[in-house]
Amino acid sequence: ASEAKSKPLVVITGASSGIGEACARSFSQAGHPLLLIARRLDRLEALKLPNTICSQVDVTDRPKLIEAIEKAVEKYGPVDCLVNNAGVMLLGKVQTQKPEEWQRMFDVNLMGVLNGTHAVLPSMIERRTGTIVNISSIAGRKTLPDHAVYCGTKFAVHAFTEQIREEVAQYDVRLVNIAPGVVETELLSHSTDKKIVDDYKVWKANMGQPMESEDISRCIMFAYEQPQRVCIREILVCPTRQD
Ligand code: NDP
Repeated sequence: ASEAKSKPLVVITGASSGIGEACARSFSQAGHPLLLIARRLDRLEALKLPNTICSQVDVTDRPKLIEAIEKAVEKYGPVDCLVNNAGVMLLGKVQTQKPEEWQRMFDVNLMGVLNGTHAVLPSMIERRTGTIVNISSIAGRKTLPDHAVYCGTKFAVHAFTEQIREEVAQYDVRLVNIAPGVVETELLSHSTDKKIVDDYKVWKANMGQPMESEDISRCIMFAYEQPQRVCIREILVCPTRQD
């Protein structure tokens, strides 16, 4: 417990499964107190991590997100790292997909990242330190079939991250973009177009072994644990056989 007190607070959104969950375990193992955020509170609590506040928050709900962060700061001190990981991928063709699905992707994948960044950045600038890690995607660097809107959200995350990084570098605040290729998680399970989901599964199977969430949390820790004078601006990490 004394070690946990000496390490600063880390906030992870979308920590109830996949990459966010692996990331929560890694930061906890490294001795950080945590604020974990997602809608499925039971899944956050099931991780049973020490020195951790689990908060049921939808990242699109800015006031609630700010409130959760303020509570954690009261208990554990300022946020040293925010991992903006919460995201949804609803594959589809724009001409047939329900507009509600585009809206949800932009709300979570982009507005969620903005909400988190907005909540922690002023204090990081004031304290002249801090790290924001945004989980983008290879779909933020190249376009892929049936991913048009998802790519739109992830290209936007890249653009936003790069510009904010330039603006806050003078305060020694770092922004890191982690852009994974295919990782085996629940991400695909929310897509509603059965044919597209089946095509994706074939594409995935053809590329051999996908990555695991731990492969990405290792990249996140690598970037975060650099001295503050070193900013890993981007890690683009894919299964070896991914095209
Ligand atoms: P999962 O579906 O396993 O995890 C997504 C997480 O986001 C869950 O914890 C979910 O929690 C949370 N989430 C979704 N919507 C909201 C919301 N409105 N408010 C709060 N939390 C939310 O997928 P991954 O682990 O794969 O995804 C994590 C990130 O990695 C995403 O940004 C994704 O785009 C990105 N990524 C994933 C890749 C992959 O191949 N898997 C490749 C490249 C990038 P809950 O439902 O409990 O709210």
